[in-house]
Amino acid sequence: MLPDFLRPLVLSGPSGVGKSTLLTRLFAEYPDKFGFSVSHTTRAPRPGEVEGKHYYFVSSDRFKQLIEEGAFIEHAQFSGNYYGTSFMTVREVGESGRRCILDIEAQGVRQIKNTALNPVYAFISPPSLTALRKRLQGRGTETEASVQKRLATALKEIEYAKQPGSHDVVIVNDDLERAYGVFKQLALGEKIEGDALPLLDD
Ligand code: ADP
Ligand code: 5GP
Repeated sequence: MLPDFLRPLVLSGPSGVGKSTLLTRLFAEYPDKFGFSVSHTTRAPRPGEVEGKHYYFVSSDRFKQLIEEGAFIEHAQFSGNYYGTSFMTVREVGESGRRCILDIEAQGVRQIKNTALNPVYAFISPPSLTALRKRLQGRGTETEASVQKRLATALKEIEYAKQPGSHDVVIVNDDLERAYGVFKQLALGEKIEGDALPLLDD
């Protein structure tokens, strides 16, 4: 059994909860310790997103071709687009000796559980649905229709997180400094207690 620090770390949680924010801080603080599993997606790049760093941006035809070629460990449709983790990206990070961190949604989490990857699963939770809505709107990257779609999907992600054993640890991203402190300990392989999942019924 690998020590926790060497096992991949799977981050999931509703869109807009702050996963990218936590990861950006971690990679800036520890440039050599972690490697991001760069997914393929058919969604359009947001301003500032870099090909090969945040995602590999591909057409639907190319994505379907990659599925047929068996390129993905897992893949899913999310809010009208395809997303997938390739064997290649996880292998590359593994070979670099860095801890591999995946940022994926719940269907992907379920699929990864049927593989030999054996990661640590962390669920990043919002403190409330109201806070989540504000963050998604405040990020300014989504149309109102897209915000609504992502919020509807968030409810499903939260339902999954409520199932016992769905994740190893929950971190509530309430105050960013506090949440980052806990997340950093987890990423570094320290034992953490984690937070209780809030009710999220507001
Ligand atoms: P995700 O990657 O989970 O979709 P982001 O990291 O893009 O989410 O964060 C969504 C928005 O919420 C961003 O505008 C970010 O600055 C903001 N945000 C992240 N963490 C917090 C926090 N703890 N408190 C308030 N706003 C936050
Ligand atoms: P976004 O469009 O906001 O970057 O991502 C939308 C959702 O897709 C997020 O929940 C993110 O975790 C998830 N996601 C990103 N890459 C992958 C992937 O490779 N596989 C799966 N299943 N989900 C992904």
